[in-house]
Parts: sequence; C-alpha cells; structure tokens
Amino acid sequence: MEFPEKGTSREEITVQLSDAISRDADWRGGKIFSLVYFAGDEVADVLKEAYTTAFYTNGLGPGAFKSLKKFESEVISMTGDLLYHAEAAGNMTSGGTESILMAVKTARDWARAERGVAHARIIVPVTAHPAFAKAAHYLDVDIVHTPLRDDLRADVDAMRRSITENAVLLAGSAPCYPFGVIDPIAEIAGVAAERGLLCHVDACLGAYLLPFTERLGYDVTPWDFRVPGVTSISADLHKYGYSARGASVVLYRDRDLRRHQFFAVSDWPGGLYGSPTLAGSRPGGAITAAWAVLNFLGVEGYTRLARINMETTAALIKGINDIPQLKILARPDMSVFAFASDSLDIYAIADALDEAGWHPDRQQLPPSLHCMVTPVHDKIVETFLPDLRRATAYVAENGDVSTGRAATYGMLDKMPDRAAVRNVVLDSIDRLTQARRDSSARD
Ligand SMILES: *Cc1c(COP(=O)(O)O)cnc(C)c1O
Repeated sequence: MEFPEKGTSREEITVQLSDAISRDADWRGGKIFSLVYFAGDEVADVLKEAYTTAFYTNGLGPGAFKSLKKFESEVISMTGDLLYHAEAAGNMTSGGTESILMAVKTARDWARAERGVAHARIIVPVTAHPAFAKAAHYLDVDIVHTPLRDDLRADVDAMRRSITENAVLLAGSAPCYPFGVIDPIAEIAGVAAERGLLCHVDACLGAYLLPFTERLGYDVTPWDFRVPGVTSISADLHKYGYSARGASVVLYRDRDLRRHQFFAVSDWPGGLYGSPTLAGSRPGGAITAAWAVLNFLGVEGYTRLARINMETTAALIKGINDIPQLKILARPDMSVFAFASDSLDIYAIADALDEAGWHPDRQQLPPSLHCMVTPVHDKIVETFLPDLRRATAYVAENGDVSTGRAATYGMLDKMPDRAAVRNVVLDSIDRLTQARRDSSARD
C-alpha cells in the first residue's frame, strides 16, 4: 500500500474503520475465550471517558502531568492494599510481559549488585508464561523450566534441585495460564527465602480476581504478600482488572529492591534522563482508565463480577464433564481452565466449534482447549454447551476427521524437533506482520 498522497475525509475514515472492525471476532457476544475482558457497557463508558479525557497526556512526564502522578501512585497503593502489603513499591507498565520483564531485570541486577552474580539463572515451572522466557532472552539470563506434579502445579523439589550458585529468582503463577491452577507459592517462596533468592508471583491473571473469590468464600491457595518470601508480584489491570489495554502493575516488597528496576543516564545532551520501566513515553489514557475502573467498581463491583465468573465457570465445567468423551485437565482455582479428550482428537472438535462460529483456543502438551471465562460468557453457557456436544458427537461419528487446522495442530504437537516447530511459528509471525503489497492480499 502506498503512503496516501491526499488526506481521506473523516466520513470515509469512519466507514473504513467500521468495515474493518466488523470482521473481528465477536468478543462482545462471548465467541472468543481470551484476549478481551469485557465487564459491560457501563464499565466501558467509564473507561472511555477516562481514556479519552487523558488522551494526550504522557506518563513519561509525571512532573508535567500531576494528574498521572496521582493516578499511577493511587493505582499502585490500591493494588498494594488489595494484596496485603500497603507499603509495596511498584510501577505501572504496558502489560504482563513488561511487568515480568521488569521483575526479571530487577532480580538480575539485584543479584549482580548484592551477590556479584555475573550470569543469572531463573527457575520457573513449564507452565510459567512465555514472558519469562522472553525476559531471559532479552536480558541474557539463563532460564530453567521445571516439570509439574500430577496435579499440574509446580514441582517444588524439582525447582529446588535446579538451584545453582548463579540462581537469582524462583517464580510461580497465581494461577498459570494453561490450566488455571495456582502453584504452591508458599513452598516456592519458602525455598527461595531459605536459599537467599527472590520469588516472583505471576498474578497477571489472578491479582484482581482471587482477592474477591476469597471474599466469596472460595478456597484460595495463599499466593500474595501475606506469604513470607514473596518479593514481587505482577498484576494485570487489563485482564480481570477490566481496564483498557496497556495497563499492568509490578509490585515489590520494598523500595530498595525496586530501585534495581530503574534506568538513568546523566550525560545525555538531551538532559538528565530517568525511566522506571521499559517504555519511554507512556499512554496517560491507560493509567487514567485503570484508576477510574478501580474506583468505579471497588471491592463491591469486583466481587459481583467475580461471582458471575465463578458461577459461569462452574456451569461450563459441569456441562463439559457431562460429555463422556471430554474431561477437565485440572480442577481450576479460578475462572481459567482447559479440557481435553482421551478418545477423540480435541483439535478436530475445535474445528467443528470454529464451524459453529466459536473461536476456541488450542493448547498443546497435552492437546486441549482453553477457556478464560469473563462476564460476557454468562450468556453463552446455554448455546456453547449444545454446540460442544454436537461437535463432540460429530467427531465421534466421523472418526478421524483431522483435516485443515486439526491436521496441522496434530502434526506440530507430535513433532519431536521443537526447533523446527519454533521456525514454523517464526514464519507465521513473518507472514502475519508483513506489509501488504496489494489490496487483494489475504491475511
Ligand atoms: C497474559 C499473561 C501474561 C502476559 O501478559 P500480557 O499483558 O499479554 O503481556 C503473563 N502471565 C500470565 C499468567 C498471563 O495470563
């Protein structure tokens, strides 16, 4: 596509916008099970007002934008209060990946300064989000992935056995993305404390939901700052915080630790430059919208939404368990779970769900489908379950129907050469993000 010579009218921009957007997946109708966390039109209006009001502000300059200084510090202290450590020191970031990147950088630089560790190692269970591997890759840190126990939670003995001289950080999830279960954080943090290491809890999913399921009386494995030895936590506002995308929090038990996260240069002609996180300029809208939604919902609002998520999850799990060929992989600690089949090709079932207009998320190791339940799914229980029953019956009757996507997923899942599979993924990123050469090019 060529750079436009002349401008396009506002009307035409609007038409093209809505035309393109009309082809997106129907997230509002609950047809997707990840990516969007919608808490209803009223919350959306609050977010939009806050975001657009602060649209031009820049979090790089809290000196100029006193509003953002107030909003960000209040988001941090409200989150610290929620996670039982009012004195926690933290920053807002663009998302879970940046929060985790910052926690790993902090651990690396803390160990370098305090213990003289030249080449740091971090130890995480295989279910830890890829953001840890990405952080290790970017920061030149070694990462060891340890196996799970039978209940799909981190095997803490395996983590302990992976500790070497240069180990700096152990991490667990609350809960992990693939199976929605909380790792034994108290044990992980206990080992970390005993060996003089840091312990990060990835609560990107759980931080703004588990405190409220706990209030509702659900069992919650201890994971927050009440657990001794937990030194940092990542918490995504743009997931179950229901905020506008581009908002997460990374919290540290104390300010001395957080200081290792910062970056500053004193000899740049452009002036003295300091930056707390990865980003330079930061969207003030995302910070402001997060502040607005936390205040708008409060404990009451979040607890009401938590109840909907938990009851919808229970209804979906019951319906799935009633289908004889399907099984839930682990009883989830929250509203995130995976289901699989011992007898049928789950990827073929996913293809049949695609046909019925759903967008199930495929997982591997083992093959399964992933559900992230949000308030919009309340209304789809009655339509999703019959479609899932039909999809399962169809695959059961038609035997090996693995064609199309199911065939591809099935093959990639079984390929022993994981480096080759990585190349398949890299090729697909390349295809999906390349410039369009002509307007008829397909995605
Ligand atoms: C989503 C997620 C992340 C990464 O967050 P992004 O906002 O996508 O960068 C990290 N950990 C867990 C458990 C997640 O679910």
